[in-house]
Amino acid sequence: MKSFYSYTLTELEDLFLKLGYKKFNASQVYDWVYKKLTLDYDLMSNISKDLREYLKLNLSLDLPKIIIKEESSDSTIKYLFEFSDLSKVEGVLMHHPYGTSFCVSSEVGCNMGCSFCASGLKKKTRDLSESEMVSMILKSVIDSNERISSVVIMGTGEPLDNYDNVIRFIRIINAPKGLEIGIRHITLSTCGIVPRIYSLADEGLGINLAISLHAPTNDLRYKLMPINKAYKIEEIIEAVKYYFNKTGRRITFEYLLLKGVNDSRLIADKLADLIKGLNAYVNLIPYNHVDEFEYSTSSDKSANEFYDTLKKRGINVTLRHKMGDDIDAACGQLRSKIN
Ligand code: SAH
Repeated sequence: MKSFYSYTLTELEDLFLKLGYKKFNASQVYDWVYKKLTLDYDLMSNISKDLREYLKLNLSLDLPKIIIKEESSDSTIKYLFEFSDLSKVEGVLMHHPYGTSFCVSSEVGCNMGCSFCASGLKKKTRDLSESEMVSMILKSVIDSNERISSVVIMGTGEPLDNYDNVIRFIRIINAPKGLEIGIRHITLSTCGIVPRIYSLADEGLGINLAISLHAPTNDLRYKLMPINKAYKIEEIIEAVKYYFNKTGRRITFEYLLLKGVNDSRLIADKLADLIKGLNAYVNLIPYNHVDEFEYSTSSDKSANEFYDTLKKRGINVTLRHKMGDDIDAACGQLRSKIN
């Protein structure tokens, strides 16, 4: 049976019209599901019996199972979800002063092979569908009884490697009467699949774009991220300019600080040279330890020096603090430890 969560609001309206129902019935059902969190068609009292019967037979409201739920000392919650084919993926709920955000995975495993990231330790077995991404959020909203105000597509997987499903997912969670996550509260993070950055710019969505840069020169980036063999830094910069010009949204460059690898003053200067004048932010991320890798976290001193160097050069920069690292829910630590 098809999943209810695979329908954008417009598609549901079209379906209902085609079946002889009213267009506004789609908003009503969306409201029951995403706002009232009612996952039983029989309880949708303003929907005709006829339509309810149709929905029961044709559009499933099933959600993934929560297999593991861990809460860290900073109140970050990591979920391990299981879908009907037994695929398992993580999602993370984070509490910030400005609201609650959900970090969603886009693929089961990941093929990008970044040398520091736990998510890539398991190769991709399949893409997640739009409905699976939506249903992870809905499940955690119901489980935690919290309203989610922002979504980051930064979990396991490379979202631009699962482009069509991710775009549909964004349209569904953004829809009025739905989860209604504001477009400016949705962030997609990519390792830099250049052609898809152009497509995303042309989509007319205007979500926030974050680029996992991690090095200002190709020589260094090749060593950290195999994707750099396909798309070089200069190409990413061109694509990012296009994205900004098209959407008016400032880009964030994520920059992982790896001790003795990419955290020297000289490299900070090169990073400033690369992005000055670009209207971008740099988000410095402390490396979260992954047992299988030899990297270690930069000292506070070098992290602060790196920050200061960028700041002095007029770059907008923040030094991110870790969330959830005691439960392996921090960046790059997501993976299913079981099977
Ligand atoms: N594939 C996407 C999204 C997943 S990674 C991307 O590459 O952006 C989300 C962010 O976590 C990326 O910036 C990634 O580089 C970073 N990350 C990966 N491993 C990490 C680690 N061990 N410690 C800290 N950040 C890490």
